[in-house]
Amino acid sequence: MSKNLELLDKKYIWHPFTQMYDWLKEEPLIIKEAKGSYLKDIKGRWYLDGVSSLWVNVHGHRKKEIDSAIKKQLSKVAHSTFFGLSHKPAIELAGRLVNIAPGGLSKVFYSDNGSTSVEVALKICFQYWRQKDKKEKTKFIYFKNSYHGDTIGSVSVGGIGLFHGLYRPLLFKGYCLPFSIARVKNVLEKHHREIAGLIVEPMIQGAAGMLLMPKGFFKKIRDLCLRYNVLFIADEVATGFGRTGKMFACEHEGVRPDILCLGKGITAGYLPLAATLTTGKVYSAFLGEYKDKKAFFHGHSYTANPLACVAAIENLNLFEREKTLKKLQPKISFLKKELKAFEALEHVKEVRQLGFMVGIELVKDKAGNEPYLWEEKIGIRVIKEARKKRVILRPLGNVIVLMPPLSISSFELKLLLEITRQSILSVT
Ligand SMILES: *Cc1c(COP(=O)(O)O)cnc(C)c1O
Repeated sequence: MSKNLELLDKKYIWHPFTQMYDWLKEEPLIIKEAKGSYLKDIKGRWYLDGVSSLWVNVHGHRKKEIDSAIKKQLSKVAHSTFFGLSHKPAIELAGRLVNIAPGGLSKVFYSDNGSTSVEVALKICFQYWRQKDKKEKTKFIYFKNSYHGDTIGSVSVGGIGLFHGLYRPLLFKGYCLPFSIARVKNVLEKHHREIAGLIVEPMIQGAAGMLLMPKGFFKKIRDLCLRYNVLFIADEVATGFGRTGKMFACEHEGVRPDILCLGKGITAGYLPLAATLTTGKVYSAFLGEYKDKKAFFHGHSYTANPLACVAAIENLNLFEREKTLKKLQPKISFLKKELKAFEALEHVKEVRQLGFMVGIELVKDKAGNEPYLWEEKIGIRVIKEARKKRVILRPLGNVIVLMPPLSISSFELKLLLEITRQSILSVT
């Protein structure tokens, strides 16, 4: 049975972000079920889910309340279109999102994954200026090492050479800047007349390997955008829903964006759903007579899927009922304390952390600051070692990422850290 599944996987499937040549040589891990912070494979082995099933899970797997909310909705309707029709779960969820989002955001546009939430943000931004008779405002500012998704628009504002470089000929041009206030100010000063928006991952760049912004930088670029009349897009697809210790990372510096992108944790890791929130001011620019053609011509077949919406509502209920954010704080402090010991390891260059987002960067020679070569696959080797010890991780190059479900117990958190430490030690 398990052999058969393995063969069929290799026969038919093309996995994301995977060199299939390597995949075909190895034994795939095939997951069958899960519970809490653990995943179980078809051979009956249990693994600790150290990256929240790639940054999506919030309250653990098979959370009773979310399971039953979905089942209950399933007995009513699984899907009905959002084009020209509406439904209660999406209406209720929109109100809930507006209530918890940074101030000023009052309208919710649904889609079904983080990349599309960014596409929607970019298109809204572009069209907004057209309808405000500022047709020259078409370009975007984005940051080096940024990641906003894998569709062509979101790749256009991506700053990771390895993922994005190849596609340059297909992409629209913009301003790719480092974390430098002087540079952002300079570009805005010179080019604001042609800049529609600035897109940024608040406080921490996830896919780049957990890169933290200098303190105060996030707030300052927001203020600059206000001054130069450029829309400010906060991509909280990774950071949203408690991952950084606050509901949204924007709260760390009291930032109110013009547009907010949400995905990943929105359904607590259950179903594909995303949302792009914006202000009444932006929304109003799309109002007009039918003949004016000011509508936002964008939508997806599964936009606002009702099953996903009830999962998202129950996710928010759990945040309230279980005081998830409050309970998270001591776990964050514990993590911070324990991670100090990692910095002393011979091949650990730096440990970066914001809340429950952690990156441990490995280096070949600390004193000489000599990195591991790409071909050495150091990150991949460490996570393979961890897998032998029954912990699931996924690296970003030479950075080992830890991003456990917010619901993880302190015992499990200790286990995660200990096995990560052992795996780093045994491979480096
Ligand atoms: C994951 C991610 C995305 C893309 O989301 P998908 O659901 O994978 O398309 C966009 N922005 C950020 C910051 C992300 O971390």
